[in-house]
Amino acid sequence: MHFSTLIQNWYRQNKRDLPWRSTSDPYFIWLSEVILQQTRIEQGLSYYLKFSKSFPTVKKLALADEDSILNLWQGLGYYSRARNLHSGAKQILLNHKGKFPATYNEILNLKGVGPYTASAVSSIAFNLPHAVVDGNVYRVLSRVFKIIEPIDSTSGKKIFDKVAHEVLDKKNPGNHNQALMEIGSLVCSPTSPKCHECPVNAKCLSFADGTFLEYPVKEKKTKVRDRYFHYLVVTDGKKIVLNKRAEKDIWFGLYDFNLIEKTNAKQNVSKDIELLNPLKFKKDGAFVHILSHQKIHATFWKVDVKKLKTEKGKTIVNINELDNYPMPQLLIRYLEQATL
Ligand code: SF4
Repeated sequence: MHFSTLIQNWYRQNKRDLPWRSTSDPYFIWLSEVILQQTRIEQGLSYYLKFSKSFPTVKKLALADEDSILNLWQGLGYYSRARNLHSGAKQILLNHKGKFPATYNEILNLKGVGPYTASAVSSIAFNLPHAVVDGNVYRVLSRVFKIIEPIDSTSGKKIFDKVAHEVLDKKNPGNHNQALMEIGSLVCSPTSPKCHECPVNAKCLSFADGTFLEYPVKEKKTKVRDRYFHYLVVTDGKKIVLNKRAEKDIWFGLYDFNLIEKTNAKQNVSKDIELLNPLKFKKDGAFVHILSHQKIHATFWKVDVKKLKTEKGKTIVNINELDNYPMPQLLIRYLEQATL
C-alpha cells in the first residue's frame, strides 16, 4: 500500500478529536496553526477556544485593540505570533474585504505566515496540493527514508521539501498533511517512538536497522544566552509602576516592572535601588526562566517608596488592576507568590 494511504487510514481511526478539525473555515484553521506553533496541543487548546469565542470572525479580530489580544495570549509565549495574527486579520479586512484569501501565495503574504502555515491552511481549508514540513514531519520522513542531510541546513531543507511533496497525496493534501503530523506527534516521538504501532513501520528504513533515534540529523546546537534581570517592583502600597516594553527585545508590547539588566550574576543592584529613595526594600523572589535562546536569571526586589514618580514609558496602576495588563509568563509566576 502507498505511504499516504497507510497514514490516512491510520489517521481516520486514531486522530484526536480537536475543534479545528471539524471546521473548514480557513480563519479558524489559520488561528489554530498560529497558536500551535511552538506550543503543545494540550496547552494551545484552551487558547484556541478563548480566541475563537472572543473573535468569532476575522473582522472582529482585526478591529480588536492590541492589549486585549495580548491579554488573551498571556502565558502562551512568542508574543510576536499574537501581533502578527492581528496584523494578518487587518490585511484580510483591508485587502480582501474580510474574506480569507484562497490561494497559497495570498496566504503566504499575510503577516507572520511562512511556507509551513501557508501550506497547512491552503491544503486543509482549500485542498491545495502543498506539503507541510514541520518538526514532526522532519522526524517521520527522516526516519522512514533515513535522510542524513541536517534539517537545519539549506540543502537539507530543500531535500525534505522535495520528499514531502513526492509522498503527498495531491487529491487529499489536507488529510495527508494532518495524518503525517499526527503520527509525528502521537507515534513517532523524539525519544521513544512506538514503532510497533506505527502504520508505516514496514516501510521505515531506520526501524529496519534500529537506527531511528539517530534521526533527524542536526547541524548545529542552539546557543543559549544567559541574562541577569533585576526587577524593581516600585510601590507605594496601593499602586505600582509598570513599564511597557519597547521593540528590539523579547516581550515587545507587554508590561513589566522597572528592569535593570546586569552582565553577570555577581553584580548587585543596591546602588540602583538607593537612587529611588526607598522607605525600605527587600528581595521578593528569584526565578530562572527558559526561553528558546535565552536563560533569564530574574531577581525581584520589592521597593517601597513614599510617592511614585511618573516617567516616559512608565504607567502607574492600581495593584488590584494588574490583571488588565498583558505580561510575560515570568512576571505572572512572580505575581502568584509576591507579597505586594
Ligand atoms: Fe517512526 Fe518507528 Fe514509525 Fe519509523 S517505524 S516512522 S521510527 S514510529
